Amino acid sequence: MPDSYSRHLLTTLIPLAYRGVPIAALTNGIVSGLVVLALWGHVASTILIYWLLGVGVVSIVRLWSWERFRKAEIDQANVRQWARWLVLGSAASGSMWGLAGFLLFVPDDPHLHTFLLFVIGGMATGAIAVSGQYTPAFQAFFLTSLPAIGVRLFLSGEPVEQMMAIMVVVYCAVIFVASLRIGKSFANVITLEQRIRAIMDNMLDGVVTLDAKGHIKSANPAAASMFGYTEGAMVERLFFSDLIPSEYNVDAPDEPSSSDDAWKWAMATSTRELVARRKDGSTFLADVATSNMTYGGEEIHIATIRDITEQKTIQIQLLQASKLATLGQMAAGIAHELNQPLNVIRMASENALLRQKAGTLDPDFTESKLTTIEQQSEKMGNIINHLRMFSRLDNAQMERFDLAMTINQSTALVREQFDVDGVKIHTALPEGSLMAMGHPNQLEHVLLNLLNNARDAIKERRKQNSGVPETGKVDVKVEVNDAGAPITIYVSDNGTGIPTKTLNQIFDPFFTTKAVGEGTGLGLSIAQGIIDAIGGRLTARNMTERACFEIRLPQPPGCKDA
Ligand code: ADP
Repeated sequence: MPDSYSRHLLTTLIPLAYRGVPIAALTNGIVSGLVVLALWGHVASTILIYWLLGVGVVSIVRLWSWERFRKAEIDQANVRQWARWLVLGSAASGSMWGLAGFLLFVPDDPHLHTFLLFVIGGMATGAIAVSGQYTPAFQAFFLTSLPAIGVRLFLSGEPVEQMMAIMVVVYCAVIFVASLRIGKSFANVITLEQRIRAIMDNMLDGVVTLDAKGHIKSANPAAASMFGYTEGAMVERLFFSDLIPSEYNVDAPDEPSSSDDAWKWAMATSTRELVARRKDGSTFLADVATSNMTYGGEEIHIATIRDITEQKTIQIQLLQASKLATLGQMAAGIAHELNQPLNVIRMASENALLRQKAGTLDPDFTESKLTTIEQQSEKMGNIINHLRMFSRLDNAQMERFDLAMTINQSTALVREQFDVDGVKIHTALPEGSLMAMGHPNQLEHVLLNLLNNARDAIKERRKQNSGVPETGKVDVKVEVNDAGAPITIYVSDNGTGIPTKTLNQIFDPFFTTKAVGEGTGLGLSIAQGIIDAIGGRLTARNMTERACFEIRLPQPPGCKDA
């Protein structure tokens, strides 16, 4: 057996070659029976019966070795031994046909010579289909079966038969060379397949292939362990219903055919952040990239899954730290916001106390002051509740939320302080309810960053034009196109504008033009990360006299109106 076959290659090749053993045994049995019937009366019956028995014994032994092979565990340690048994079996089978070439050769009957050559030649070429994958097995059959009849034909002395004998030699040479090439091609294909398998097996990302209906056709070990299944148990599951269920992912289809739009969305070539469900029912956040291809006329989808739980946790912590930093920057404004109702409460209670001391406190006055105190306390309570919500840890899952409310809350939080700084906020929102997908709390964080930056740019411009009066203006405008198109939020200001040379850098982490202690340079990079994660886009440009930031939010179908 040539050493060119590595043990690793043999572990795939030998099981393939053994698959042909039952077919070979069956063919041997049928053809040898027919040969005996055809030659009965021409060849001594004892020879025919012994030969048939010999073929039967060889076939049974081969079937027995095939059965043992099926039950055995094949590994690199024992595969060469199994390969030897296979070659031996092939040689034994081939020898029976070689024997037929000698024993069943009826002298002086060219008709029967042609019959025998036809049968043995057919068996030898048929062997290429059955054991061609493993060249040594094929050659063992071929070289023990065909040459014998060639020799007999040559020795017959008949010129035509001698020509046939020469042709047998030519056939042998051609088939021999062809068998080497076929064996090599098989080995190459298997090596390539093993290499692809090894890459798939060692990938850290999960990879599954799906058919046109979303059934999993194959899964690599990373995908299986990510979802808590065995590789085999993943096969035939519905990727989008079982592993990326619609109850956690608003756009994912319930069933592959449930809605064409949903299915198109699921299979569009893209990368999305989705909630995946393990076998035990627990969930994790995953980046899912889908791509499509046609292979052999069949539509195939490939999904790559990356568990981003850890990455997400770090992102959320960073976001949290950045949020607290933003709150710190807004502390003065918040104090101002709380101070106002507090003053009203103080004055209402002082007035009531004065009247009480003078003995003129009547029930109507008391009621009006208590109502004022109640209303102002409620106002303070709302501000505090909102701050608490803003500073809480975010839920990692996207939700459908009221965008108008988020924008109004963000602007309300800074409006007073901006007024004090001489900066007016104008909002222009479309009429009616405005629903969007994402994380409202995170979007609020993005908006507050943009608003604070706008205010800083206006103050900076004032500083640069020292003494020149400036009306600071920040515009927040929302545009909604047709359903299905993205929602766009524009935040623009009449501050310094962004110098062209830094326009490409402002989203880089730690890039800041602010003084030490005033800027961290993290605001825009975190904001961009937040918007990217929900499939949107945050960009900046300079317009005449103003810097303009543009947030494009994805608007899945059905989210335009509540
Ligand atoms: P920081 O505000 O801490 O500096 P950011 O990432 O929020 O960090 O902003 C980075 C830089 O982008 C700012 O230092 C500033 O130079 C520039 N920038 C951001 N917003 C504006 C704006 N509205 N006008 C002009 N420059 C801006």
